[in-house]
Amino acid sequence: MIDIISVTTVVSVSLILSLLTYHNNPKSATNRIFTFLGFSIAFWAIVIYATLQPLQQDILLFFIRLSMLAAIVMSTCVLFLCHTIPSNKIVMKKKFSIPILTLAIIGSITAMSPYMFTGLEISNGNVEPTPGPGMIMFLITGLGYSVSGIGILLRKYLHSNKTLKLKIRYLLIGLILMHVLLIWANFIVVIVFKSSAFMSFGPLFALLFLISAAYAILRHRLLEIRLLVARTITFTLVTLLLAATYATILLNIPRLFDQEYHTLISIAAALILAYTFAPLKDLLSQATDSVFHKSGYRTEDLLEQISSTTRSTINLDNLMKKVLDTLAQTMHISQAAFVILDDDKPYVQKRTGYDQPLKISQKHLSALIKAAKNTPLIFEELEEGSVKEIMRDHHLAIAMPLTVKTAKHGLLVLGEKSSGDIYTSQDLQVLEIITPQLAVAVQNSLAYDQIQKFNLTLKEEVQSATKDLKKANKELRHLDKLKDEFVYIATHELKNPVTAIKGYLSLINEGSFGSVPPKFKDPIKQLDSATVQLVNLVNDLLQIARSEAKTLKIHTQEVNLCEIIDATLAGLKPVADGKDLKLQHSCPAKDLLVKADPERLKEIINNLVSNAIKYSDQGTISVTHAIQDDQIVTHVKDQGVGIAPKNQKKLFTRFYRVEEEVAKGTPGTGLGLFIVRQLVEKMHGRIWFTSKKDHGSTFSFSLPVSKK
Ligand code: ADP
Repeated sequence: MIDIISVTTVVSVSLILSLLTYHNNPKSATNRIFTFLGFSIAFWAIVIYATLQPLQQDILLFFIRLSMLAAIVMSTCVLFLCHTIPSNKIVMKKKFSIPILTLAIIGSITAMSPYMFTGLEISNGNVEPTPGPGMIMFLITGLGYSVSGIGILLRKYLHSNKTLKLKIRYLLIGLILMHVLLIWANFIVVIVFKSSAFMSFGPLFALLFLISAAYAILRHRLLEIRLLVARTITFTLVTLLLAATYATILLNIPRLFDQEYHTLISIAAALILAYTFAPLKDLLSQATDSVFHKSGYRTEDLLEQISSTTRSTINLDNLMKKVLDTLAQTMHISQAAFVILDDDKPYVQKRTGYDQPLKISQKHLSALIKAAKNTPLIFEELEEGSVKEIMRDHHLAIAMPLTVKTAKHGLLVLGEKSSGDIYTSQDLQVLEIITPQLAVAVQNSLAYDQIQKFNLTLKEEVQSATKDLKKANKELRHLDKLKDEFVYIATHELKNPVTAIKGYLSLINEGSFGSVPPKFKDPIKQLDSATVQLVNLVNDLLQIARSEAKTLKIHTQEVNLCEIIDATLAGLKPVADGKDLKLQHSCPAKDLLVKADPERLKEIINNLVSNAIKYSDQGTISVTHAIQDDQIVTHVKDQGVGIAPKNQKKLFTRFYRVEEEVAKGTPGTGLGLFIVRQLVEKMHGRIWFTSKKDHGSTFSFSLPVSKK
């Protein structure tokens, strides 16, 4: 009975574990060797079971030989497994693996030949096979291989890091236990006590090893399964208990009442049951979860937390700190760090749990990023090699590359878990989801940093440029002031000699120095008109210089507009007559009173009428007035050359002259209208004009009415 239970258990557990391990990672050599080992243990268990049956002697001998073959196959598997674990590829060199396999095949053939067991002896119901010289092959390939396996594993154990040590430890314990038990049951008990009673336990011992190996390979998977099972069982049990209590209480209540109320009470009981059971069950499920899932977390919660951090944090330093804190707390990670590549420096770091900055060389960093190719590097799953070596040196359990398309921004590295546990598949899944998200967030933060830096330099440059400009502007203003002063002084000094010249010329003309000889008359006339021009120019310049220096003073008073105009026109009449032009002035009222500075007003009229005369060859020049609200508008109209539209815009600007007039040689400075506008505006009036080429112009200005 024990035999059949033992063999069924061994066969089913071995097969289940084999398939589970194979399914977990069919490509891994470790997993494949393990699967093969599982099958061979199942096979061995069946054969052992057969040898314990009352069979014919020659059939029994066949099964005993077959069991030796199965043992050799198992030992070979054990040797390879110990040598390969935890790698995904067979790491044994061919010069070793080929002889080992050849020897195993020879051993297997020998096992089936009459050389290992020459025959059978049955005494006192005990079956005793007679060993032959071929037994030496079993000692090498059966016992020898599995003992070598132990040796290799022991060496690996001593030279591995914490996580690998944990893995190997279980395997080593299982392996040693299996050997001790097998040797005890199959040799010591058989030889010393002459009993094969424990022989049937052999496969059970092998199973011990198989389970420990499965645990080592599938550790986190099994851990998760263990949790799941524990949770489910507890939950089911508690739920059943609760249901039973409920049912007992509620079903017994009717007994306390009379028959007639029974239906009513049953309905009430059913309703209470229906409405209260579900919430209680939820409460229970939460309670069991909190007990069995203490270190666990909800994937959605963590993802949401990380997403909200990446969405709301733009400053790189804050982003790194928040993400590290979240990960370290949720996954119970002892150490974690961001290593971000920066243009200026080799890299920037933000860490949690590490006492000192990580010292990863630029070369190693690039190697890790390159090896990662967009998916996290998991130390556990890496082949032995330079990358794994780098991770081992820096105690990195996981390295996540922060790359966006082809841009490489660095790594997020995680150390081991505080509990020493391996990262669960849930952890890895979450990490795989957040890695690209973090990479984009880091990229954005880096860009933001750069813009900040750029803004700062820009601001500094603008500030320094503004400072330079301010200085230059100040200097320019100073120079301008000097120029104005110079012009003012120069013109002021010019005024006196020019006035003297004009005075003496008048005296000569009037004959104060005797009669002027006829041949001097014309040159003197020329001299006189040139002096008039010079006086005008000097006056204009002086006017501008005063205005610029803000020394031009306007003293407004009540002025009779028509009187001033008449006086000014009288002075200009000779000039108009000289060009056969008529001068007209029509005054609508006798007392047209305006608020103005009489001297400046004279200048204004003089300028406008002089221009009208200068730029007309025929026709009449008329001065008219119109009263508009509290303003009096004066129009000076001519029938002269007019002004083309393209020349009208700049007419009132300093030194502006219409090109055609310059070309014609008409004398002028381009200052008259500029001064007129300034004077009018200073007296609170406005000036404008309308003109049509070849049809004449009308210049108009307004002045406030004097209300006195
Ligand atoms: P200036 O007469 O000394 O050249 P102004 O400032 O008085 O300077 O006039 C500027 C320009 O406006 C003149 O060159 C002339 O071409 C034009 N202008 C002024 N008044 C008239 C007018 N009544 N008819 C035609 N053109 C005029």
